[in-house]
Amino acid sequence: MHCPFCRHPDSRVVDSRTTDDGTSIRRRRQCPDCSRRFTTVETASLMVIKRSGVTEPFSRSKVISGVRKACQGRPVTEDALAKLGQRVEEALRATGSAELTTHDVGLAILGPLQELDLVAYLRFASVYKAFDTLEDFETAIAELRDGRPHPHECEPGGTPAVVPVPASAAD
Ligand SMILES: [Zn+2]
Repeated sequence: MHCPFCRHPDSRVVDSRTTDDGTSIRRRRQCPDCSRRFTTVETASLMVIKRSGVTEPFSRSKVISGVRKACQGRPVTEDALAKLGQRVEEALRATGSAELTTHDVGLAILGPLQELDLVAYLRFASVYKAFDTLEDFETAIAELRDGRPHPHECEPGGTPAVVPVPASAAD
């Protein structure tokens, strides 16, 4: 890529390292012309198509802030939120799809959030699945009591768009 300082059309990689979570590579580069250094980050492309039709890069921090809202007043630590964010991102990347919808992202959040905190899960699910009546909550609670996983119910027939991550892969 071009040097961001002098626009020289080439650069030399002086260091490469994979980030701790393994989802990206940071490269330290040096311009052979002006000798200045800069960093690039390489990740597998993962775009999210919003309901408005606008496409934006997947943001783990947006997932975490959405879940954090649902967790207000609940005994959920920042560390647990960070882990959830990582699991969600890994599950979405594991689909191999470069483009997802906000629906897919919400779906990937439901499973891990249900394990994390049931009250937060119900809050999140009530927004995500657009509960409008008390019966919707009662049904969701009854499902939780049954211990049956229902996060994929809203997928109209067919396979879930998102493959749940096995617990072992989340560590
Ligand atoms: Zn340069």
